[in-house]
Amino acid sequence: MTPTKARAKTLVAGVGDLLVRQQALIRRLQWTTIALYIALLVLPLFLPLPTSQDFIWNNVTRFAQFVFWGIWWPFVILGTALIGRFWCGLLCPEGALSEFASERGSGRAIPSWMKWSGWPVVSFISTTVYGQLTSIYQYPKPAALLLGGSTLVAMVVGARYGKAKRVWCRFLCPVSGVFGLISKIAPLHFKVEPEVWRRPLTQVGAIAAVNCAPLIPIKTMQGGSACHMCGRCSGHRGAIRLAWRRPASDIVYGSGRAATRWETFLIVPVLLGLVPAALHWSSSGLFQSIRQWLVELCVSSHWIWPLSVRLPWWVLTNYPSASDVMTVVDGLSLLALIAVSSVLASCMFMVALVACSFVLRKHLGAVHHIAQALIPVAAASLFCGLLSLTITQLRCDGIDLPFIDRCRGMIVLLAGAWSVMIANRISALYTASIQRRALATTLVSIPTIAFSWGWLVVFLF
Ligand code: SF4
Repeated sequence: MTPTKARAKTLVAGVGDLLVRQQALIRRLQWTTIALYIALLVLPLFLPLPTSQDFIWNNVTRFAQFVFWGIWWPFVILGTALIGRFWCGLLCPEGALSEFASERGSGRAIPSWMKWSGWPVVSFISTTVYGQLTSIYQYPKPAALLLGGSTLVAMVVGARYGKAKRVWCRFLCPVSGVFGLISKIAPLHFKVEPEVWRRPLTQVGAIAAVNCAPLIPIKTMQGGSACHMCGRCSGHRGAIRLAWRRPASDIVYGSGRAATRWETFLIVPVLLGLVPAALHWSSSGLFQSIRQWLVELCVSSHWIWPLSVRLPWWVLTNYPSASDVMTVVDGLSLLALIAVSSVLASCMFMVALVACSFVLRKHLGAVHHIAQALIPVAAASLFCGLLSLTITQLRCDGIDLPFIDRCRGMIVLLAGAWSVMIANRISALYTASIQRRALATTLVSIPTIAFSWGWLVVFLF
């Protein structure tokens, strides 16, 4: 190991150890985040809706919108990809409140239904779709309902199940599945060395138990996509330390090999299908076509109510004072667009993944592993799609970021290229044949290039 690498290794391990020593400071930071979170969620409820004369810097509601959707959401995604899930372990107000409730709660056993691995996928889909139907990015009431409601449920779950644990975060949180996937490309992780762990205790000194709030069996932890990187276990038995790793090595050699169908489901139809549609439906030509078709159908069938009836704001967007009302037809058109986009992404990518697995002579055995190669492009798509919220809000206030759209296009293209390279590395694990490897990589590259190109068109034209 070169001296530079040795220094970097020591420095990173030192950061992990610092986290153990600074748990009290981390607690204080968490309470500060909680106070800010509650203030930004609740204050806008008591204020009138912003007008065109209100800006991020002089209006609490606009400021809260910008913090939640322009900074927090996209940059937590970016941070997870760059350094792992530190947000979850150190700052997340929902996780901190759930653990706080759990420390004082009844500590019941976790019911088996709660451990179903599909919950993070189901809850991510439901919250994303519901958020769009109620225009969560624009209005304080749906934001308070969805975020506040989720925090409340997290606290109730914490108060009932586990002792000083984050049962909510581990099994139910709507973004835990996405964060878990994206953290696999991060170059940092808490590394466990089993041979050091197995040493007799006398050789490693006195041991204090570690409370791993997200319930990870630390001794056997591999990759650590469920790890919240709270740092509490750093240095435990001399066997755990914060360490560098080759980005995406976890996908190729680690937890990617044991990927499940739920992870593939989250990557393909959800992150590569549902999310782009949910983030760009208002400017979608397909949405307008579906809507037009539904309107004509209603008119020709003399159904007026889907075009005129107004539902409460917590069902469909309903803000007449802001001239923003969604009809039933609008809502159905949005749902149809999301469904079409998910089906299209599934067809495009799943055909390639299945064909790729057959080319590698694994029948369907390598599908989920190769699907993990798509994590970089899915993460870039999510981040760059969410950046639209940041850019739109800043543009409304007269702040134009030059070259931002080209940068976004470049990020998605580079991430797509990275995905193809990872697919190539995964293929090498299954075949020694250069031809089969090249064919498998080409198969993955076709939908990946098409998908990245689609984003480029959205950003640049
Ligand atoms: S394994 Fe658990 S205790 Fe260790 S850093 Fe991750 S979340 Fe914290």
